[in-house]
Amino acid sequence: MPEYKRPTSEEEFDKNFKQKKPLMNKTEAFFESSRCLFCYDAPCIKACPTGIDIPLFIKQIHTDNVKGSAKTIFKSNWLGNACGKICPTGVLCEGACVYNHQDVPPIQIGRLQNYATAKAMKEDFKLFKAGDDNGKKVAIIGSGPAGIACACELRTMGYAVDIYEAKEKPTGLTVYGIAAYKITNEEVLDELEYLKKQLDLNFICNHPIETTEQLQKLETDYDAIFLGVGLGATASLSLPGEEKENVVGAVEFIEEVRMQHAGLKVADRVVVIGGGNTAMDAASQSARLGAEKVTLAYRRGKDRMGAYGFEYDLAISAGVESLFEAQPVEIVGNGKATGVKFVKTQSKDGKLEYIDGSEFVVDCDLVIKATGQAKQGKFLQMINGLELDRRNKIVVKENTYQTTNEKYFAGGDAVNGGAEVVNAAFEGKMAAKGIEAWLDS
Ligand code: SF4
Repeated sequence: MPEYKRPTSEEEFDKNFKQKKPLMNKTEAFFESSRCLFCYDAPCIKACPTGIDIPLFIKQIHTDNVKGSAKTIFKSNWLGNACGKICPTGVLCEGACVYNHQDVPPIQIGRLQNYATAKAMKEDFKLFKAGDDNGKKVAIIGSGPAGIACACELRTMGYAVDIYEAKEKPTGLTVYGIAAYKITNEEVLDELEYLKKQLDLNFICNHPIETTEQLQKLETDYDAIFLGVGLGATASLSLPGEEKENVVGAVEFIEEVRMQHAGLKVADRVVVIGGGNTAMDAASQSARLGAEKVTLAYRRGKDRMGAYGFEYDLAISAGVESLFEAQPVEIVGNGKATGVKFVKTQSKDGKLEYIDGSEFVVDCDLVIKATGQAKQGKFLQMINGLELDRRNKIVVKENTYQTTNEKYFAGGDAVNGGAEVVNAAFEGKMAAKGIEAWLDS
């Protein structure tokens, strides 16, 4: 029996996709902030990729200086509200909180962060403004978290910034690729609107940059270019039958869920292939959309999965079944996928071996491949002198995020190969400082 009924309205969808971190009220925030020990040399700050002064913003909440608290957060992380919701806080700041050593629940840093930033957005606190025009222009390709962070930082320094986005809406994966039970589209777009109003960000949407001529024009028109292009579509598995109907990529599936909500009718039986966080999201969302049976299949053992334990637990609690040590070898069906053929695997001397004669088929009506995204290698190769590593990631200098073509800087998934939104936000900000240092030299 499925845990969730198929949602047929927005209300039912919201019920099934209820957020894991609801907004705190004033009393809750006051109480929670009172628990912070304001540690000297606080480990939570070190565990935050953007280095937010966590004890300071918590203290500011406790003294009812919510405006100051929001400023502390945004100053370090331009996507402070989104990150409060979607960061894996249990393995970052909250995982480092000293209370974990005392068998006491850690401070709910993510929820406190949202308390302050959501209030700033709701009450339209003016915390930042664009710097005086310095006469220089920067083009940003891609409006995901790295691009937005880079743009915000540059605007405070007085640069004119144009952000080119291929899709209809900005924010990249934050709107299109994060599970709907973590953050809503509105929350993501509200934060962007809030920043846009203060810093006068100029988005040019529905404007893909995909030809050498377009790149050359940007090189002529701008003093520097930031590449925040992220990753591409779901990578191919090179499996026989992969081209069949009803075989989709996880990123594309998650995007459909976010865009269509209850309008998306998920198949009855779903097989999700993969062991990373995206696989967990796809499986969990299929279950929340009311699929009767969702099987999460991974070729190695549970201990080798790339996903965080809490993401796996979330999928299992949504009714997802797991199948370990099963390697997909074929998508079966006639035109349409009707099942996935697997072979059992075992690990011998660290190598994965197939067990002869152990093939079996799991029947399904939808196959979701969550096996990583392809890199934007083809596009990136159009840029003169841009070095990519052997995995097609952009090579950058450590602190400035300048690429091997000195006019280009880069950050986010295209550089780190696919990390958290908070990492992209940090890299975009650092690249802005790198651009400033380069143009100023
Ligand atoms: Fe507060 Fe925990 Fe950070 Fe210490 S480690 S400052 S208790 S949030």
